[in-house]
Amino acid sequence: MAPAVTEKEQPAAAAVPSGPERVFNVAPEEDLLYSLSADGKRKFMHPVVHRGRFWRIRRTVAYLLFFLFFALPHIPVGGRPAVLIDLATRNTHVFGATFNPTDSLILVALGFGIIVTAFFVASAFGRMWCGYACPQTVYLEFLFRPIEALLEGGPLNQRKLNAAPLSGRKVAIKLAKWSIWTVAALLMATTFVSYFTGWGPLLQGLGTDPLSWKGALFTIALVTGAILFDFGWFRDQMCTIACPYGRLQNVIADQDTILVAYDEKRGEPRMKVKDRVLGVLAGDCIACRACVNACPTGTDIKRGLQPECIGTAQCIDACDEVMRGIGKPIGLIKYTSEREQKGGVRRIWRPRSIAYLTLMTVAWAALAVLILTRGDALVEIVRGGREPYRLLPTGEVANQQRVRITNQLSEIQRFTIEVLSPPGASLVVSQSPVVVEPDRLVTVNAVTTVPQSVFVDGQVPVRYLVRSDRGFQKEVQFLLLGPFGTAGGTP
Ligand code: SF4
Ligand code: SF4
Repeated sequence: MAPAVTEKEQPAAAAVPSGPERVFNVAPEEDLLYSLSADGKRKFMHPVVHRGRFWRIRRTVAYLLFFLFFALPHIPVGGRPAVLIDLATRNTHVFGATFNPTDSLILVALGFGIIVTAFFVASAFGRMWCGYACPQTVYLEFLFRPIEALLEGGPLNQRKLNAAPLSGRKVAIKLAKWSIWTVAALLMATTFVSYFTGWGPLLQGLGTDPLSWKGALFTIALVTGAILFDFGWFRDQMCTIACPYGRLQNVIADQDTILVAYDEKRGEPRMKVKDRVLGVLAGDCIACRACVNACPTGTDIKRGLQPECIGTAQCIDACDEVMRGIGKPIGLIKYTSEREQKGGVRRIWRPRSIAYLTLMTVAWAALAVLILTRGDALVEIVRGGREPYRLLPTGEVANQQRVRITNQLSEIQRFTIEVLSPPGASLVVSQSPVVVEPDRLVTVNAVTTVPQSVFVDGQVPVRYLVRSDRGFQKEVQFLLLGPFGTAGGTP
């Protein structure tokens, strides 16, 4: 194993003018951000890849996530893509189930479920999400960096090429790299847009009449630009500066949260192999910096827990390789918890994790119940017209309403509405039966007329029965308005 020299390995003094031309004092290198040089310039990370056990797990997860992202819009379920957020109809289709904008309870349960799950995962597993499943890490480490390494070589070669003066070779390599990145970014952006339009309509629209797909074109261009900016240049700064999840992690984590840490008791005092002589007290750490050179954020995990650590475990793989090389047991850097580091036993079940798990179970169970008990249609009655009610010459009171019916089945439904009570009530609907296409919403006007005598304090509840030819049946209540002071008799 030969750890490559990276930009962050340069001593601070090399980047800062010394002597009379030095015009400012800088903090010692250990007090600087990992991504900053002593002169305030950005340090670009070129992590050395060690194909260890955790790297292999992460690669499997990454390829699975790539497959899901690119394949889902192509897998047909019930005549539609497996996942489609149809902006035109405002319906969302997920594996054959259709959700309407009126499914607000389902949306609330889903949002709550995602939030408490994020809290639970962060509390129990620390930043494993960042290291194993976050799109930022997954696409950077397993797509964009490998393309870079293929064209520019390993970290040392990448650094040399960046420092080299402009030449035909350099321009050709950089051009090839950015061209392939652009194709990858375009594919990602187009796939992203296809989640909202479907691949078929998108390709057909862009191929035949691109001008009427300006919104899609603009979004593809914007997302492609954002992807290139992020994975081509911004990179680790997204995790260490921009992402709020890392900050949240610091609040949610406790003494029992799993984290990546250096075993100080075993590793210290660290000493280079060449300095080790018989009888000198030395820990297992050989101060080779392989862990630092492998880190995508440049973190030196030997300095303890730090917010810059995004849990990639690349330092574990690097150090394990070093330990094997020098015949020592692996695990000098390992998954552990603060409590274990202090000699205690990690507690899996603690009030915080039980609370998150309970909330998580409630949220996902509520979501499941809401989905499973979801009706074949949604019926909503709202007040219509400009006046609350109209007194008719016959002595009756008429209320105008608007009836909204959403068909939640994948076949056409024909709905009829009848009024059940109060006695003497009658109903006129602008369309009967109300024909509603699958996943569509139709609004019809209705007028309910009741005798004046049924009003109490200007109100009377009315009950309707809505039925469809596909077996749907639902009773709906509504409050009619009328004149005051007519209980059981004369106004
Ligand atoms: S912790 Fe491991 S990889 Fe890091 S410097 Fe020490 S021996 Fe090298
Ligand atoms: S310190 Fe280790 S686990 Fe943390 S980001 Fe760096 S390589 Fe990944």
